[in-house]
Amino acid sequence: MVFILNPDAKQEQIDSFIRQWEAKGFSTIFSVGTEHRAVCLIGNTSSVDMDHVVETCDIVRYARRITEQYKAVNRSVHSEDTIIKAGGVTIGEGTFTVIAGPCSVESREQILSVAEAVKASGAKILRGGAFKPRTSPYSFQGMQAEGIELLLQAKEITGLPVVSEIMNQTQEKYFENVDIIQIGARNMQNFDLLKAVGRMGKVVLLKRGMANTIEELLMSAEYLMTAGTDKIILCERGIRTFETMTRNTLDISSVVLLKQKSHLPVIVDPSHAAGIRSLVAPLSKAVLAVGADGLMVEVHSDPKNALSDGAQSLDPEQFDALMRDLKPRAALENKAI
Ligand code: PEP
Ligand code: MN
Repeated sequence: MVFILNPDAKQEQIDSFIRQWEAKGFSTIFSVGTEHRAVCLIGNTSSVDMDHVVETCDIVRYARRITEQYKAVNRSVHSEDTIIKAGGVTIGEGTFTVIAGPCSVESREQILSVAEAVKASGAKILRGGAFKPRTSPYSFQGMQAEGIELLLQAKEITGLPVVSEIMNQTQEKYFENVDIIQIGARNMQNFDLLKAVGRMGKVVLLKRGMANTIEELLMSAEYLMTAGTDKIILCERGIRTFETMTRNTLDISSVVLLKQKSHLPVIVDPSHAAGIRSLVAPLSKAVLAVGADGLMVEVHSDPKNALSDGAQSLDPEQFDALMRDLKPRAALENKAI
């Protein structure tokens, strides 16, 4: 249940209102937006007489039941779009933020050359995996701590904020200077990891699991938020279907639904969705058109020899062509790339 507060409600009145509900065993979320402030009750609210609260509490303008299980990430609790700042880059608010870089950091030379190239083409954030979740234990597992070190060197040299995937809690110490922590599809429902990363309070890029519903993605975001971070970017990256021609099926409707149901920014990873290089540019245009807040694209200096995901990686020229194509389209949508 959410109580929308009167604009003139004083903070001490709100505090006492919150204390009153917490004394009855409810948890609360206090949300401050530009339009209004709200208090959301978490717990079994079936016995709460909503009308009575509105009639008897001066500070409450109106109340609404929230039927969804997700509360903190729910747009009914926080009606305005959440805007996130990561290393000086804004995600949300009239921007279409492009994140680009290799699937895996492979060497200093590779990450630096890709970083310089994608920056020159207009990418705002650099991606690079160091701890890699691979289907086969025989595949390249990532450069691990050294990969993070090289990614941070690329950040230092180019000024681009960086995003990289954490696979478990023991890796937390490597992520102190990483601007955005990625939780990958395979870990979307690793609840202990969600709680631990939430407690870190950093910006999190949460990818949708390949066999998870939109509601489950929102519940995982709820875990992060209740653990301590409100800076969450949701990422659609394709789901498993009966289709075999693509690596996954890009669920484009999820972008629209996520933005309707939640106030969090939503980006799309067309590279893992398609698994095929030639699909990345057309899908990116669809992503922009459908209202996403950005894109995460795999770019490699030498895709043929990439140690992971070469088949879906663009080379720097292909990425540059995509960015040149996207820029006027973004302007038509009133979004800055
Ligand atoms: C990745 O971004 O490199 C990755 C492994 O993605 P996903 O978790 O979506 O498969
Ligand atoms: Mn990859």
